[in-house]
Amino acid sequence: MDKGLLVIISGPSGAGKGTIYRRVIDRTGMKRSISVTTRKPRPGEVDGVDYLFRTEEEYHQMIADGAFLETAAVYKNFYGTPKAPVFENLENGNDVLFEVDIHGVKSIKKSYPDAVAIFVMTPDFETLENRLRGRGTESEDSIRTRLGSARHELGKYEMFDYIVFNDDIDTATNEVLDIITAEKRRIKNNIKAITGLLEK
Ligand code: 5GP
Repeated sequence: MDKGLLVIISGPSGAGKGTIYRRVIDRTGMKRSISVTTRKPRPGEVDGVDYLFRTEEEYHQMIADGAFLETAAVYKNFYGTPKAPVFENLENGNDVLFEVDIHGVKSIKKSYPDAVAIFVMTPDFETLENRLRGRGTESEDSIRTRLGSARHELGKYEMFDYIVFNDDIDTATNEVLDIITAEKRRIKNNIKAITGLLEK
């Protein structure tokens, strides 16, 4: 069996990457990564489902052990993607889908260059601004900050393999599914399958 595919979805907040991520998981059954965090569980959150909740000591030990594919400090807590379950899935031929921020993309690409990175963006910045405003949860400051970050992230386009413009969520989701299918059909991802056929 050939290895699974590691796909990363990223993009500015408000572009719809979270929705696309959930839809792709639902439609494909791709494996998702459960992050490790030092933050305390919120009501209703379950260890091993939402996150792997660990103490700071445990977390730092994991860093020392080289257990993370990427790790980041967000506010006062640490968050990281554990390496072992991801590589285990890939070795078993399971495809894995990540939704991470731009820093995560860089780290993952560095330690796993075969990862396929998809940037989800609105057709233009005006649409992004309207969507952020439409949420009704962001302050004017937060909207400005997020728009600035979005411009910065788009400037890092060389890190990505694909861009999907999310004008319509169904079309955008289908485009992401098409990209995944195309990547899965690449010859380099089917060498074992092909040689297996030839040997019969
Ligand atoms: P929350 O505490 O609200 O669940 O998440 C806070 C932030 O941490 C979010 O922006 C989320 O995307 C980010 N985050 C969650 N898991 C990871 C991870 O494994 N790696 C990185 N770099 N960020 C993460």
